[in-house]
Amino acid sequence: MITIFPADVNLTPDLPHVSGLDYQGVPIETYFSQSAPALQLSVDWSFRNQASSILADSGLDMAHLEQALELILPHGAGTSAGLLLCDSLIDDPVLGLDPNQYGFMFDLEGDTNTELQPRRGCAIFLSAIQARSGDLSPADMQEFIAFTAIHELGHLFNLWHSADSSSTFMTPHPDPEQIPSHALGNTFEEIHEDYLKFVNDPSESQFVLPGGSNFGDRISGFPSGTDPADSLESPADRLNLQIHVSHETCYSCEPIELFVTASVADPVHQLVTLDEFHPSYPRFEIWITNPAGERRRHRPTHLYCRPGPSIAIRQAEAIHREIWLGGSSRAPTFRAPGIYELEVWLKGGAASVATSNRVQVEVLPAEPRDRRWQEMKGLLAIPSLRNTLRYRRLTSRSAYEALSRMNEVRENSATGRAINYALGVALQKAGKSSRSNERALALQKQGILYLQQALLGETHEGRRARIDRMVRETKKGKIK
Ligand SMILES: [Zn+2]
Repeated sequence: MITIFPADVNLTPDLPHVSGLDYQGVPIETYFSQSAPALQLSVDWSFRNQASSILADSGLDMAHLEQALELILPHGAGTSAGLLLCDSLIDDPVLGLDPNQYGFMFDLEGDTNTELQPRRGCAIFLSAIQARSGDLSPADMQEFIAFTAIHELGHLFNLWHSADSSSTFMTPHPDPEQIPSHALGNTFEEIHEDYLKFVNDPSESQFVLPGGSNFGDRISGFPSGTDPADSLESPADRLNLQIHVSHETCYSCEPIELFVTASVADPVHQLVTLDEFHPSYPRFEIWITNPAGERRRHRPTHLYCRPGPSIAIRQAEAIHREIWLGGSSRAPTFRAPGIYELEVWLKGGAASVATSNRVQVEVLPAEPRDRRWQEMKGLLAIPSLRNTLRYRRLTSRSAYEALSRMNEVRENSATGRAINYALGVALQKAGKSSRSNERALALQKQGILYLQQALLGETHEGRRARIDRMVRETKKGKIK
């Protein structure tokens, strides 16, 4: 028996209240046991309010959601999974946070932020669904929420997407408008049913059960890997992808980030494309070769089901994205010392792939006898502090104080710039959501000081432009 624990996260009264999860009059768990009799699910609502302490005034990021999962899942047990009912992700394309997703599945690997194993939970975004539901009746909206839950739980059991034109539970990015006409279907594809039946096979069940293999690592004979949510032709060959790594030389504990610059190839003046410059979109791949020469694809913490939003890239304006690489697997990505090589691919249609330049980062051996190394390693292992760096948000007073005290590091190093930048952006955000004008002003002024510090020694044009813009906007009186 596998227990699914739904939990409300940051919901507001204007969103639909989910009182049960039935689809076409049948409880969602029944669709799984019908497909594979050994797959018995139960939905336990008793921890629904367990994550009520998580409040995100300006929107949820992944750190909020990972925290919610940790609150509801009994540690270590592989026979349960979380189903987060959320408002929506914060709109932050630079960090790859997409508020238009209806749901996604977590593929965490127990890094220093979380001890959770792969495929232990999924999230459903009620405000994204509501925004696209138009004239749907409340009952139809509940139907779509239940359908989305079945779809995401399907991914939790390691199922991949069906063909775009199909009408099964694993059809990619179904839309709420399809609900009234029953166009979404009410079955799993036969190959998916065959896959789910392996839950009963002791040597293969790890590829099905939550907490087992990573998403996309499957039983032989079935498709492996992540699949793009659709077959849209993306004009990848007219894009220039340039990458830059935040640290040239560093220790494995440092907050390593990848900056991605997307621009149009000459002589294209403007290119309308999907904004999928983040590994949570299956088309975008980061490849890392470790010092032993092994090449592996970087795993994102979660996988989006819907394509990214459409954007226009003009000749004079490159798109700038920041991707956190500071840890994503059982071991940190850059665990062993030595030189790592990184490359990025964006897959378009069948034959069209944009490939980036290759960059290197040298990871230094740990220095456990060095006091400064010990201090930095200890601080950077604190989840709230890492989350401030990762999501540029003030997670706790102690994290803020520890980061702002790290003066030795903050001066003149890549990690120092990352700290100044994260604190600067976080203070801007905190200022914007502050209810008192006076306090907003104080926070934003303080933020500008950190941002100006972050500019010193920053050579990356995309990051510099972003900081300049933030400072300018705040000074121009966008301070509320
Ligand atoms: Zn999906």
